[in-house]
Amino acid sequence: MPLVVSGGSMLIGQKVTIIGAGIGGLAAAVALAQRGASVRVLEQAPEITEVGAGLQISPNGWRVLTALGLADAIAATSPRAQAVHLRDFRRGAVVFTMPLGRSDQPWHLTHRADLITTLADAAQAAGVTIRCGARVDAVTAGTDGTRLQMADGTEEMHGLVVAADGLHSPARETLNPKSRPFFTGQVAWRAAVAVDTPLAPEAHVFMGPGRHLVRYPLRDLGLVNIVAVEERDGWAAEGWHHRDDPAHLARAFTDFCPEVTTLLAKVTEAHLWGLFRHPVAQHWHADRLVLLGDAAHPTLPFLAQGANMALEDAYVLARCLAEDPDHATALARYQALRRPRCARIVQAANENATNYHLRPGPMRFAAHSALRLANRYVPHLVARRFDWVHRHDVTG
Ligand SMILES: Cc1cc2nc3c(=O)[nH]c(=O)nc-3n(C[C@H](O)[C@H](O)[C@H](O)COP(=O)(O)OP(=O)(O)OC[C@H]3O[C@@H](n4cnc5c(N)ncnc54)[C@H](O)[C@@H]3O)c2cc1C
Repeated sequence: MPLVVSGGSMLIGQKVTIIGAGIGGLAAAVALAQRGASVRVLEQAPEITEVGAGLQISPNGWRVLTALGLADAIAATSPRAQAVHLRDFRRGAVVFTMPLGRSDQPWHLTHRADLITTLADAAQAAGVTIRCGARVDAVTAGTDGTRLQMADGTEEMHGLVVAADGLHSPARETLNPKSRPFFTGQVAWRAAVAVDTPLAPEAHVFMGPGRHLVRYPLRDLGLVNIVAVEERDGWAAEGWHHRDDPAHLARAFTDFCPEVTTLLAKVTEAHLWGLFRHPVAQHWHADRLVLLGDAAHPTLPFLAQGANMALEDAYVLARCLAEDPDHATALARYQALRRPRCARIVQAANENATNYHLRPGPMRFAAHSALRLANRYVPHLVARRFDWVHRHDVTG
């Protein structure tokens, strides 16, 4: 159920500006507006549209959507996942299965566009205004407010500003001028393919030497989301919108099992994305400026937690601001609650890349044999390794 604004919320009547109408920015807009704030969102894109790609929303993120009253709307278009299968790349044999079917731990396979649309509709219904075509080029925090230098050359003064503007956030640069990303030596393609026969609501990870491919179905289970990662020396620009020839993707996975190669042969549009590692920001706030989501803690996608962390941030930030009349104390509490958890998740995602990409040899043999044994005798022990990520409840 959506939260009903109580007379005790310190946000009632407070003006808040959010930069970025992505998952984190829109979730924060809903959470803040539900607690009484008057919210406007500045988005650089001329309209709210999303590229076609999937997201796994794990139970920790789902709890936030539930607390915001949006779970039913999102569940209507997002199949509930039953399992994640780790598979060998060449034969496709299952090495390990993590069951996801527990009723109290909902795990959904969501189209980004559907999630963004639901969040934007909910924000507007809660009175949030969204200004598209408003790109912020530079941000200056000050005690009298936050100054925004807009791309059209104008300057604007705002009070409290939440920077949810993703990987290349100018506000992150302002607060953490020495923080520099570096190329991980990995690139990711993503694509979506329509199939004639609906797939089971499961995620499959095909693990090969220096490469892995994840596929899962979206919407009515007839649209397959593909994320394919390859290690390489060459650099690829970081971002969502760089197209690549689908033949390059097919060629990189040509030695994978027929289930993969047949799927890749159907790809007509692929996007390529260079994977960079960014340090988690040291400083998340100053004066009346605060970071949220990828702007604070970009992560590699190997634990599927970027959007989930952004949802958690949004809820915690709104609660801290609603509970404390002093912004400085509220923002310090928000960082103290969020930074250690996000840093731990980002680190775990970094480590997962190595686990997926083992090359043929004793290491791979030992790791896969151990997983197969665990799969047979103690599957829940391995699955519980990430309980600290998925069972976390910021809404409790
Ligand atoms: C291939 C891939 C697969 C992924 N899979 C998963 C998954 O399964 N589960 C998961 O939880 N996460 C996943 N992620 C990560 C997830 O997509 C991101 O972590 C998440 O979108 C971050 O949300 P955000 O709101 O912080 O940033 P974004 O969603 O990037 O939104 C930022 C918004 O700010 C706007 N903006 C940017 N700069 C400016 C500016 N200067 N002025 C105004 N507006 C601006 C942008 O246009 C955008 O709308 C995946 C990522 C990738 C690349």
